[in-house]
Amino acid sequence: MVSRVIPVDPFDLVIFGGTGDLAQRKILPALFRRFRGGQMPTGARIIGAARASMDTDAYRAFVMSALQEFSGDGSAQEIADFLSRIHYVILDADGDTGWSTLRGFFDQDDEFDEANPPVRVFYFSVRPRLFGGLAERLYRYGMAKGGRIVVEKPFGNDLETARTLNQMLAAYFHESQIYRIDHYLGKETVQNLMAIRFGNMLFEPLWNSQYVDHIQITVAETVDVEGREDYYDRAGAMRDMMQNHLMQLLCLIAMEPPAKFDSDAVRDEKLKVIRALDPVQPHHIVRGQYSGDADVGLPSYRDTVGNQRSTTESYVALKAHVSNWRWAGTPFYLRTGKRLVARSSVINVMFKDAPHSIFGADAGRHANLLTIRLQPNEGITLQVTIKEPGQGGMRLVDVPLDMSFAEALGKEGSHPADAYERLIMDVIRGNQTLFMRGDEVEAAWAWTDPVIAGWTARGDVPKPYDSASIGPGDADLLMRRDGREWRGIRP
Ligand code: NAD
Repeated sequence: MVSRVIPVDPFDLVIFGGTGDLAQRKILPALFRRFRGGQMPTGARIIGAARASMDTDAYRAFVMSALQEFSGDGSAQEIADFLSRIHYVILDADGDTGWSTLRGFFDQDDEFDEANPPVRVFYFSVRPRLFGGLAERLYRYGMAKGGRIVVEKPFGNDLETARTLNQMLAAYFHESQIYRIDHYLGKETVQNLMAIRFGNMLFEPLWNSQYVDHIQITVAETVDVEGREDYYDRAGAMRDMMQNHLMQLLCLIAMEPPAKFDSDAVRDEKLKVIRALDPVQPHHIVRGQYSGDADVGLPSYRDTVGNQRSTTESYVALKAHVSNWRWAGTPFYLRTGKRLVARSSVINVMFKDAPHSIFGADAGRHANLLTIRLQPNEGITLQVTIKEPGQGGMRLVDVPLDMSFAEALGKEGSHPADAYERLIMDVIRGNQTLFMRGDEVEAAWAWTDPVIAGWTARGDVPKPYDSASIGPGDADLLMRRDGREWRGIRP
C-alpha cells in the first residue's frame, strides 16, 4: 500500500521555547521526518525563538545534535538541507527583546493577502505562565492576523485557570486560530478508532449499552515523574493524564456519529459526552502512589519529588458513567499510573455474553472483546469465540482476529507517523479536528474539579503500590465489586 504525501502550502513555523526539551525531543524531529517524507515545501522556514543567547549557526548545531539524538535517521545531506531552513531569534516572552527581529521575518501588513493569507504557525512550547505574554506581543507586533497558535498542555490547572487562559488567548486570537494539543489524539490508532466506528456497519449497531458490558481505558507508564517533579507534585495523575488524555479517548469511544468529519462537528459531539458524564462518586475512584524498592535502588514517589508528606497521586482509577440513551448502564473504567509493570495504552470494549448458550454450561462463558492498542504496537484485535479444534465435542475457545497495522498496511503501517508529525502538519493545513476546543477543555475541568476538591476536603491519602506492579489493590476491588476484572497490563 502506497502512502500519499499530501502537499502543504509554504509556511513559517516559530517555536517559542525552541531550545527546550519538547522542541528537541518531539517538535524538531517531527518536522525533520516530514521534511524527509517530502512534505516540507521549498520556502518553508522554522524559526527557533528562546532566551538563550546564540546565533542561527549555533542554533543549527543545536538542532543537528537534537536530530542525531532523537531522530536517529537521515543522511548528512538531508540534515544539511533541513538545517538550511532553520533560523533563530533571541527573544523574551516576558519582555520586548527580539520581537522586532521576529517581525522582520514576515511581510509587512500592506503585503498581507487577505484572500490567500500566508501560513504562520506560532508554537507555544514554553511554560503556560508565558502564554498570555506571547499572545499579547504577537498581537502588538502585528503577527496575530491570520496566525495560528499551538498551545501545549497543561491547559490550566482547574476550571478557573483554564477559563482565564482561554480568555487571555481569545483577547488576541479567534478560536479558529487556536490549536490546543493533546498528542494522544494524533496517534494513528485513535483516528482509526473513528474509522472503525464510523466507516463500518459491523460495529456501530452494537456500540451501545444493549451490547457493550463495559469499557476499560488504560494508560500505563513504566516511567516516574521524569524531571517534572515540581509540576507533577502540584498536578498528579488526575490533572496530568485523566482530565485530558483519558478523557479524550473516552469521548472518541462514546460520542455519537458526527454529521461529517469536520472539526466543529467532531468536537461538538465530544463536548456532549463530557457534559453527559455523571459526577464521580468518591467510592468509584482509587488513588495510588508508588513505593520505592530499596533492593534495586528505586526511589519512592515521595523521594522522587522530595516531599515526604506529599499526598499527590501517581495513579488513579475510576468508574465513569455517561448518562445518555446510548450508554446508560454501561460503565467506563479508566486508569492511569506511573511506574507500572508495563508501558501500555489500550482501550478494551467488552461486549456482553450471548443471551443464551446453546452449548451448555461446560462450554463456559464467552464474550467478544475489541482491543484497541495505542502504544506500543498500535493495532486492533477482535476476540471471537470458535470451536476448539480437534476431537472431544463442542468446546469453545476465544481467539483473536488480529489486525496489526504492520501486517495489513505493509511498510507504512509498521511506522505510523509520530503523533507530533501528524498534528503539526494538521496545524499547517488548518485542520482543527484533532485539537481540543476551549469549551471542551473547560467542560473536562468542570468534571475533574469536584473530584479533586473532594480529596482535599476529606484529606484523602493515596494508597501505596509497588513499583512495577499493576497499581493498588483497591483498583481491583473497584472492578470486582461489579463482578468484573481489569485486563492485564502487558507491553
Ligand atoms: P523546557 O523548560 O525544557 O523549555 C522551555 C523553553 O522555554 C526553553 O527553550 C527556554 O529558553 C524557553 N523560555 C523560558 N523562559 C522564556 C522567556 N521568558 N522567553 C522566551 N523563552 C523562554 O520546557 P519543555 O519541557 O520543553 O516544555 C515546554 C512546554 O511544553 C510546557 O508548557 C510543558 O508543559 C509542555 N509539555 C512538555 C512535554 C515534554 O515532554 N517536555 C510534554 C508535554 C507538554
